[in-house]
Amino acid sequence: MTDYVCIPPIKEANRITGLWRNHGPNTYPINLSLVVEHIVNPTLEGERLHLVYSEFDTFEGMLKTDDEKKWGAFVNTKIPYKGRRNFTAAHEIFHFLAHRKIMKEFRCGALNLSDYQRDQMEVEANEFASQLLLPPDLVRPHVEEDFTYSNVRSLSDDMGVSVSALAYKWLSLTTKPMAFFQSRDGFILQGYASAAAYRHGIFFKEGREVPEASTTFKCQAARVHDASGFDRGLWHSDLGGHEDVYQTSFGDFTYTFLRFF
Ligand SMILES: [Zn+2]
Repeated sequence: MTDYVCIPPIKEANRITGLWRNHGPNTYPINLSLVVEHIVNPTLEGERLHLVYSEFDTFEGMLKTDDEKKWGAFVNTKIPYKGRRNFTAAHEIFHFLAHRKIMKEFRCGALNLSDYQRDQMEVEANEFASQLLLPPDLVRPHVEEDFTYSNVRSLSDDMGVSVSALAYKWLSLTTKPMAFFQSRDGFILQGYASAAAYRHGIFFKEGREVPEASTTFKCQAARVHDASGFDRGLWHSDLGGHEDVYQTSFGDFTYTFLRFF
């Protein structure tokens, strides 16, 4: 498995960011078609990467090749959000850069695209996409705002990334206790806590039931966007806080933004 780390994702993202800022347009969101054309392809010998936006039935992104020379990083245009498509494109570009010698084909769904701790290649592709599209110096000034769906959504639109990608970046930069998780059918699928929340023992295990008294549970049943305060004992034994919930229109995922105080 050591082959995986021959291209470190953060370092590679920073290298491209340096080229983009010092020798390119230095505009955000980064234009990934230009990155592929002017930064990725000129370094290849006999291979070429094409960024392809097209409609397919399952998965959000794919990397594949027929002849090991022409590679396609496919982004599903059925994804309704531009930022989400952009994050998917950056994720597939890293599978090409770092993983094409290990696997010839990748098919990535919503949970792969927000995996920061399980499958190593998925984690690396997400770390790269997050670092490239959301450089910490551009995001850090915003993380003192309230951690709510509307604030995260609005910044994710400005930065050209998915809501979940921005939520995870926000958690990695804040000094306050907060958390974000995705759930479906009453069960938590994936969740992360900020360092300050983790110090309080807050974390999210896959398969944990969503408490019936939570706003998340009510939203999931009613398919709405809702927010409310919560008392201690619901999400943490000693901390209350605020719970902001959004029901997504794809894959029936529910996004929950928790602030503790
Ligand atoms: Zn992937």
